Amino acid sequence: MNSCDVCIRGGGAVGLALALSLARQGLAVGVVGAPAVADAAAVPARPDVRAYALNDRSRRLLTTLKVWDALPPDAVTPVDDMRVHGDAADAAGARGAIAFSAWQQGAEALAWIVDAAALEQALATAARFAPHLAFLDAAPAGVPLTVLAEGKASASREALGVRFERHPYGITALAARLVASQPHQGVARQWFRSPDVLALLPFDRPQPGASYGLVWSLPTAQAEHWLAAEPAAFEQALNEATGGAAGSLTLASERAAWPLMLGRAERLCGDGWALVGDAAHVVHPLAGQGLNLGLADVAALAEVIAQREPWRALGDATLLRRYERQRAGPNAAMALVTDGLHHLFAQDQPVLRELRNRGMTLLDRLAPIKRLLTQQALDR
Ligand SMILES: Cc1cc2nc3c(=O)[nH]c(=O)nc-3n(C[C@H](O)[C@H](O)[C@H](O)COP(=O)(O)OP(=O)(O)OC[C@H]3O[C@@H](n4cnc5c(N)ncnc54)[C@H](O)[C@@H]3O)c2cc1C
Repeated sequence: MNSCDVCIRGGGAVGLALALSLARQGLAVGVVGAPAVADAAAVPARPDVRAYALNDRSRRLLTTLKVWDALPPDAVTPVDDMRVHGDAADAAGARGAIAFSAWQQGAEALAWIVDAAALEQALATAARFAPHLAFLDAAPAGVPLTVLAEGKASASREALGVRFERHPYGITALAARLVASQPHQGVARQWFRSPDVLALLPFDRPQPGASYGLVWSLPTAQAEHWLAAEPAAFEQALNEATGGAAGSLTLASERAAWPLMLGRAERLCGDGWALVGDAAHVVHPLAGQGLNLGLADVAALAEVIAQREPWRALGDATLLRRYERQRAGPNAAMALVTDGLHHLFAQDQPVLRELRNRGMTLLDRLAPIKRLLTQQALDR
């Protein structure tokens, strides 16, 4: 491919989903920055141990792209129930808690937990065989539209001079796969422990019905300590933190760590360029929404492009601003929610602790508000 209609820089999940979406419209798409997994012979040295929680909207997009059904059955686990625990609350030591159930909300599932490495592999395989799509070593000259999907440290975004506001949290997320002594029964669990947040995402790898994806967000010094600790000491800390609610937990993978921040690009587009995914916005993973936001960017940009007037160029700034208008609000709202939750639970004052735990217990009894929250999280 010597030329293309759209050049996408970055072959992560968001870049590849956009490439597939646009190639389906018959546009010639070039992707610069092929993922290692695009080469079937290449085995990534350290496969991503994360398990992503994806919402219904992301699932529908990936189904349209013929990626969802290509995922191995044990790489996708539906979440039937979710239990969110606060930190110790009243004088009796009772914790605030909220429980959500797919059945009560009339939903097929609250979310789907997807193997990050399997998702990238399925996207890369679909991209390798897609017509109108090619992996390129460098961007050809004169491309009408360039989309930056290079993740949070996007160098091309810097080169364009787009300001990216960064607010590091001083928190690092530690991820790993675990095996439990009892079945997960499709229940996701999360503990807001002030200052750390611990999530167990039900999963079927490596052991069907009894595995979890762990995301444990801790102050960076603690995260570094637990990253280097002996497996037995780490498992003991984990079992103390979860209080046996999920059974006895053992490590089933390496541990990996990601420093967390809130990040936002000042603009999502300009003449001939647009930003998608983490190159545009980064949120705390406590609500499992970063990739969901990125895939929502993909759906919005692909739709704006599909519906453009026949005379309008792909890189037309007016056209791209339609995409920006659609996405700016939801991206900012999610940043506000995740950042607000992080700060609410980062405070360790007893009064605040009691208030937030009482709030959780009260919320648990308010069925209409719970329904609203679930609908928002599902993004149906
Ligand atoms: C611990 C943790 C748990 C998470 N859990 C969830 C979850 O449950 N649900 C959810 O929705 N989200 C979750 N997220 C967020 C999710 O991981 C990100 O939002 C998502 O991976 C962003 O995808 P992306 O394609 O935009 O960026 P990236 O995944 O960062 O991909 C960017 C790609 O661009 C490439 N690249 C970089 N620079 C260049 C360049 N100059 N030229 C060419 N290519 C380049 C990179 O190599 C990479 O392949 C989590 C994040 C963390 C840290």
